[in-house]
Amino acid sequence: MQKEQRIKYYSINNFECIPQVKSLSEELKYAINVVGKVLPFRLNNYVVDELIDWTKVPDDPMFKLSFLQRDFLSPEQFKSVENAIRRKASATELQYLISQIRLQLNPHPSGQLEHNTPTLEGIPIPGIQHKYQETVLVFPAAGQTCFTYCTFCFRWPQFIGDHNLKFASKQSPSFFEYIKKHKEVTDVLITGGDPMVMNFRRIESIIRPLLGVGFEHIQNIRIGSKVLSLWPYRFISDQDADKYLKLFEDVNRSGKHLAFMAHFNHWKELNTEATRKAVQRILSTGTNIRCQSPILKHINDDAGIWKKMWQTQVQLGMIPYYMFIERDTGPKAYFETPLVKAFEIFRDAYQDVSGLARTVRGPSMSATPGKITIEGIDEIAGEKIIQLKFLQSRTPDWCNKIFFAKYDERACWFDELIPAFGKKEFFFESNAFKPQSSKRKRLDVTPVSLSY
Ligand SMILES: *Cc1c(COP(=O)(O)O)cnc(C)c1O
Ligand code: SF4
Repeated sequence: MQKEQRIKYYSINNFECIPQVKSLSEELKYAINVVGKVLPFRLNNYVVDELIDWTKVPDDPMFKLSFLQRDFLSPEQFKSVENAIRRKASATELQYLISQIRLQLNPHPSGQLEHNTPTLEGIPIPGIQHKYQETVLVFPAAGQTCFTYCTFCFRWPQFIGDHNLKFASKQSPSFFEYIKKHKEVTDVLITGGDPMVMNFRRIESIIRPLLGVGFEHIQNIRIGSKVLSLWPYRFISDQDADKYLKLFEDVNRSGKHLAFMAHFNHWKELNTEATRKAVQRILSTGTNIRCQSPILKHINDDAGIWKKMWQTQVQLGMIPYYMFIERDTGPKAYFETPLVKAFEIFRDAYQDVSGLARTVRGPSMSATPGKITIEGIDEIAGEKIIQLKFLQSRTPDWCNKIFFAKYDERACWFDELIPAFGKKEFFFESNAFKPQSSKRKRLDVTPVSLSY
């Protein structure tokens, strides 16, 4: 067995001890400290030592994925925090200012769990979400943190202690009972945070029962995690590395399928020896690895990057699965990519890879009515349009249904689009379905496993 690699976490309080950080300009370090008052910050030694190319900092995409950037705040927001620090504002005053800025960053872009919390005999079961009939999402309480806080992540409020989500815990009515009763469910997706931060005993206590009596209808168990990109030693030299792998093997031997939903944002994350080894070890258990990522300005808004990422994934035996559109929250302005541009990047990369990589779908938005992809841009009857499609919907009949929005080069999310051909509403907005919030504004989104 390989020598154990010990994980070491850095936060806003001690990042200046990182040897590589010592060589950063004072200006960069200062910006991290200011922005770090508002947004969460955490990374580990693997990201520092093996992912970030320090010769290319501050432009290196791995650096921007894990280190706070000045432009995550607007110039006004930045200045107000800066002024408060300078004039040595009281702790209360500073805290108030920070909470105001956090609110401006749209911490809850959706109703998230509260719109989708299922009940059992009238009692809500926290920590699970059942939006699409065949798949139940499980959010275990112990899996709500991560190996590194990705700077674009829409779960940022939970990392700074804003727990409006309720997580599955020992006290909750058991999600196992719910799943047992719902025979239409074929897939259980364990998500977070990152569920792979949980120790072996915890993961096993969620997965092992699903292999037993009463769960014959469960065909697939999925784990949504970024561990392969952020701490691959989990499967190589961590204390329980072999136990995780044995559990994965047991799932596959039981006649069910284990799907590891891996999150990679850039091909650079696929290049380390450790990640390649971890991928091989997981595949050797009969598990499939499916890959997903949002499209992010400054990180991967380039067809060449996606092409190389998908090709490398296939070459390593993984399956490209989803390209997502980033949600409207946190430092969204920094990362956002217009829908039309995202579509063009997807198309150009897709057209340039072998069919084995064309398992990928997207670019996809998780909105209230379902997962919606941008399928094309065209001109129909003299009108320029964006062709959209449901990949997933609350109402299964809508799945695979095509519909049209007016062409809009600037729109960055579904709620900014309006129907094409002079229609007043999209088909799903008529009588049968109305979002709980106002029409077309603020269509909520639900957590996906990035995670995801
Ligand atoms: C994406 C998603 C799923 C899984 O959808 P698949 O298309 O089966 O991968 C399940 N639940 C929610 C809420 C989702 O957003
Ligand atoms: S993207 Fe995933 S791994 Fe990264 S911070 Fe968010 S939940 Fe954690």
